[in-house]
Amino acid sequence: MTEPIDNPSPASTPVEAAPAPMLAYGAEPTYVPSGYATGGGLLVALGGGLLTAAIGAALGLAWLLSKLPNFLILPSIAQGLLVGVVLLRLLRRGKVRNPAAAIVVGVCCGLASAAFFSAMLYGRAVYLTRVELHRLAQGPGPGQRFFVAAATRADSHPFEVYDAAALQGRTTHHGLLGFFIMKGTALWIVAGVQAGIVALFAAVLGKASATRPFCEICGTWCKAPYNVAVLPAFYAQPLSKAIVSADVQHVLTLHDHAAGRALGTSCAVARVHACPRCGQKFADVVVKSARRNNVVLLRPQRVSQEMVEALKYEPEEAPTLAPAVSDATASPPTDSSTENG
Ligand SMILES: [Zn+2]
Repeated sequence: MTEPIDNPSPASTPVEAAPAPMLAYGAEPTYVPSGYATGGGLLVALGGGLLTAAIGAALGLAWLLSKLPNFLILPSIAQGLLVGVVLLRLLRRGKVRNPAAAIVVGVCCGLASAAFFSAMLYGRAVYLTRVELHRLAQGPGPGQRFFVAAATRADSHPFEVYDAAALQGRTTHHGLLGFFIMKGTALWIVAGVQAGIVALFAAVLGKASATRPFCEICGTWCKAPYNVAVLPAFYAQPLSKAIVSADVQHVLTLHDHAAGRALGTSCAVARVHACPRCGQKFADVVVKSARRNNVVLLRPQRVSQEMVEALKYEPEEAPTLAPAVSDATASPPTDSSTENG
């Protein structure tokens, strides 16, 4: 976001765009979540995420072995979504406001998912080997005595028997690592893709949870946001600057200027997130278009009630000085910081 403030991006400027309002406020708006996260909240999220990863891995394996269509990647996507949604709820419940911590938990769950899945594949191979030894032990063949002994041993030491039978001569490693080495590149790729997908979903949803506005006074998350103003997209930037600068007067000027203008194919939406207890409010600005929905231009900023009132904008009730003014004067509102106060 290094583009000059008095030069709105062409992508957000509709065809019918009149000269865009300009502002010359200083720094780019930045919103930083408090970063607070209790160890308990993080541990519960991690524990729940790992448990869900294990359940998801089992369901994914069952899906792969079933006759249902899977395209190889569908179970991993479902697993990622499952872990991500559970993590989202747990991080919210644990009041984790630290995006970095949420991402780390998500990545851990992704790696664990792949490890659980491979461990289950390994366990299944061990089980199938034992079943096969018992089948052979009941046969009439000449080696029956050998198979009876092997089957008995497989009952007490199934992993050892499998490793000796399957991994011998292919690798000197035992257990899951030996299984990975024996299966070769294919299993590493499957595990890598799976870890990546689950980690991506879990990290993105976890970060979304941690960056939602939180009232530090009441210790609770804000309610879902509601729209207060919908303006043509090229007002998104000046509107954001005015909110950051707490410039109520300029917000009103922008509304006057925007009144009567067609929205075009994209629009700027100012939203308010309110604390359910004390009523403290945060405002953000998103740009919505047919192609890309909800591009966040301004992340939630704490705003006064006066600003919330100023932001409220009903196109139907817009002041009468609407289109005529902008065409006649042809001078867009500029920096109004001097009018403020
Ligand atoms: Zn509050």
